[in-house]
This record gives sequence, C-alpha cells and structure tokens, in this order.
Amino acid sequence: MTTHAGCLCGKVRIAIEGAPLRVRTCWCRDCQYWAAGSGTTNAMYRIEQVSITGDVRWYESVADSGNRMRRGFCPDCGTPLFTGPAEAPKFLGVRVGALDDPNRYRPTELIWTDSAPECACLDPALLHTPRQPAPIG
Ligand SMILES: [Zn+2]
Ligand SMILES: [Zn+2]
Repeated sequence: MTTHAGCLCGKVRIAIEGAPLRVRTCWCRDCQYWAAGSGTTNAMYRIEQVSITGDVRWYESVADSGNRMRRGFCPDCGTPLFTGPAEAPKFLGVRVGALDDPNRYRPTELIWTDSAPECACLDPALLHTPRQPAPIG
C-alpha cells in the first residue's frame, strides 16, 4: 500500500510504502516555529520506505534533546515535509500536513508536552511524554 504526499506547490512529491512505525505530535520549542504556533504531527518511517521526487532543502540544528536534527522543506513554497536525525539517519518523519489525505493517520502520542504553550489543547486520551521519548526501534 502506497501513501502519497507532497508540498503545497506540487514540486516535491513523496511516495511511502507501508505503515508508519509511530505517529506523534511534538511540542518541542523548535517544532512550534515550524508549525507556526502548534505542535508538528509526524508519521515516522524507516528511511527506505520513503521515495522523494523534486528538490528538498534541509535545515540542520541541535534539538532540545541534544540530538542533531534535520528538517526538510520545499525551497519554493516552504511547506514543512520531513524531520529526522541528521547523522546516519535510519528513520524519517513525514509531516502529516503534507499527506494527500489529511485523515490518513492520527497521532497516538504527544511528546515534549512540557514545552507546549498554555493555550495548547492536549488530548488526554493520548500518551503524554513530557520530554524526549525513547528511541524508535
Ligand atoms: Zn512546494
Ligand atoms: Zn519537536
């Protein structure tokens, strides 16, 4: 089963094979910049599940966890598309806002909830992790 995604202008297209390992919303301070005040919701895949066509620009920074992270976005329209570790990446997160079907997945976990602003609506039915969660896999 293939899931399709892409940026707003259509220059970047993404094809994903199989199901995500995790779908979670991150409320770290960095994500609030990318998500314009909300958290980012990311479907996490093994990197070999994800095929990308078109140019993606990557921005690297050191996250609150101390991990070196990279975030990928369309250089033309700016749509946030990817998140993942910058060094020897095994996993790649796809921003669920870029999925062709925005109802494809819903998050099951909230992470970095300690950094969420007071106005954030945090679903009490989801797993809450106050800071960095355990590594995937
Ligand atoms: Zn674009
Ligand atoms: Zn984050």
